[in-house]
Amino acid sequence: MGVTKRMTSLQKIQALTEKYGSVRECMCGDVSVPTKITIQEEFEDVELVIHNFPVFQCLECDEITFSPKDQVEYYKKAVKHYEATKKTEFDCNLSQ
Ligand SMILES: [Zn+2]
Repeated sequence: MGVTKRMTSLQKIQALTEKYGSVRECMCGDVSVPTKITIQEEFEDVELVIHNFPVFQCLECDEITFSPKDQVEYYKKAVKHYEATKKTEFDCNLSQ
């Protein structure tokens, strides 16, 4: 009665999972949530810019983690895109 209950980390994880679809645990012990960033990758002598690359970012320490599989996959797509169009900018959102 009238007692403020502290949110347990499990409840926090549940709430964040509902909000974001999926979350990860950061090395710092807090929770990382999905977000999109822009990354740069080199291909031969060109710098490819990859927009909307999906990553997880920690709510506490801002540490960014991502799947190496995604990185390889989008890198390959960006290279293909570059070879086809000569455009160094690639948007992951447009490649689904
Ligand atoms: Zn963290």
